[in-house]
Amino acid sequence: MKFDILDVISTADKKREIPVTTEMSEVSVSGGRFPITDIKPFSICLTNDNNKQLLISGDTTLDVVVPCDRCLSDVDVTLRIAIDRKVMLADGHVQFAEDEENTFLEEHELDVDRLIYDEILVNWPTKVLCKDDCKGICPVCGQNLNQQDCGCDRQVIDPRMAKFQDIFNEFKEV
Ligand SMILES: [Zn+2]
Ligand SMILES: [Zn+2]
Repeated sequence: MKFDILDVISTADKKREIPVTTEMSEVSVSGGRFPITDIKPFSICLTNDNNKQLLISGDTTLDVVVPCDRCLSDVDVTLRIAIDRKVMLADGHVQFAEDEENTFLEEHELDVDRLIYDEILVNWPTKVLCKDDCKGICPVCGQNLNQQDCGCDRQVIDPRMAKFQDIFNEFKEV
């Protein structure tokens, strides 16, 4: 979703609020694709601060479905999306420092989906478990051990091995 915000960029102390209802349906993070089930409608607030900087803010939550790291069953994860960006202004234009990455603003077009995506990356959970004591999958037969025990001999699997199992699952997803 892109918006022309030339009016705010070029007018000192102008404020504008943009209602956002985005249609992002999935998100790609480190090789995986995850369905987005809900994004609460919210507003992006733009403020031209004395022609010196442009303030961009917005706050919402987003629900995404991520597989459990151990048993791969679907887990609903709610991410807080707190957008809070500043862009320098000079002579009525946006100005990025050379080392600054500008992905969400092209000339005077604001890419709201990109702003949201940047926040998703920042807030992405490092570990997702369906429950703290998820038993994972039997490494011998593949049975989800939360549902039932398969009776396989898994004696070699101690807690340190369970960690390997997590890593193994991560590899499988890529
Ligand atoms: Zn699990
Ligand atoms: Zn088994």
